[in-house]
Amino acid sequence: MLDRLEPQSPDALLALIKLYADDERSDKIDLGVGVYRTGQGDTPVFAAIKQAEARLVEEQDSKSYLGPEGDMGFVHALMPYAFGKDAAMGGRLAGMQTPGGTGGVRLAVALARRAGVGRVHLGTPSWPNHAQILADVGVETATFPHARADGTADADALLAVIRGAKAGDAVLVHGCCHNPTGIDYSPEEWDAIAKAFAEGAALPILDLAYQGLGQGIEEDAYGLRRVLAAVPEALVAYSCDKNFGMYRDRVGALYVLAADAGQLPAIQSNLNALARASWSMPPDHGGAAVRVVLRDDGLTRLWLDELETMRARMREVRESLAAAGTAGSVDLAPLAHQNGLFSTLPVTKEQVERLRKEHAIYMAGSGRINVAGLHQGNIDKFVKALADVTG
Ligand code: PMP
Repeated sequence: MLDRLEPQSPDALLALIKLYADDERSDKIDLGVGVYRTGQGDTPVFAAIKQAEARLVEEQDSKSYLGPEGDMGFVHALMPYAFGKDAAMGGRLAGMQTPGGTGGVRLAVALARRAGVGRVHLGTPSWPNHAQILADVGVETATFPHARADGTADADALLAVIRGAKAGDAVLVHGCCHNPTGIDYSPEEWDAIAKAFAEGAALPILDLAYQGLGQGIEEDAYGLRRVLAAVPEALVAYSCDKNFGMYRDRVGALYVLAADAGQLPAIQSNLNALARASWSMPPDHGGAAVRVVLRDDGLTRLWLDELETMRARMREVRESLAAAGTAGSVDLAPLAHQNGLFSTLPVTKEQVERLRKEHAIYMAGSGRINVAGLHQGNIDKFVKALADVTG
């Protein structure tokens, strides 16, 4: 029976990691993998997390099961960062821990489907796993353009989709640091988006995977908070894998805003049932470490400082690229106004291949680059190579 399975295309980025590892050129540059890197090319464990982990080793006295909701101390500790001072949203908010932001998106879409959502609108390009999750959960995907050719967000396209949506539609929106373009909505655009959601029929699903990597913790949550303040219902998938550097420990959460606090027990029981059928309960360690950080003022300050260092470094790389002006046919100026780890360059697959073969520069075929793969020692080489293949 298993011979009926059709081979699936391999994950292109994973294939790229292998090609990069096998490349012996000493000046090779990796702009593919989606992790933060220091100017030395490392992805270190946050010092705040190291300290929290040491405390966990000392203090944890049992590894007995938690429930499908995971570590609720973690889930609550994160809320003021995501939702601001009125984090409880008048008692209308339920939350649970998930395996990474991926688990949060998966659970959000599965819950939406149970609640009657049949179609999810998604701006493209998007994180490729969004479309895979929608297909796997079994909802229809409808797409609209996320950005304009000039490197700004196409808020009008999103507004038209929200206004045209019917009952049974959801709209999935990146909260900040859009993957793969780095192009975010402005605060004014978010105001209009929140108003459109409030007046329309669509269920908002917000994906916040990079809070603090764009403009700052508060700034990066602006859109999410505006939407949540305006609408009766919303789903929020959150990842701590980038902003706490927890990647492989799989730290995330799903929050659900209900129209009425009385609906929360039914919502929570559906979330528990979906989680039990998928992963039973999330892995504990990473969420517990984040909880220890967020419950300790000193560790929280250390974490926020580390996050600010990362943000400043990515900003510096973006400004250096933008200062180069153009590289061949590529205008690098818009990169200064984009946010987070990623930007997408207007290059062809052939040009991406030439960058790899002729210049040892590795990036996704879509033109997405991880700006944290660049530093003062390799930016010039990158800009020259880009000019060479696109000029
Ligand atoms: N949403 C978006 C937009 C992402 O880019 C990612 C990670 N690449 C995720 C969710 C999931 O992150 P995690 O590694 O926590 O599963």
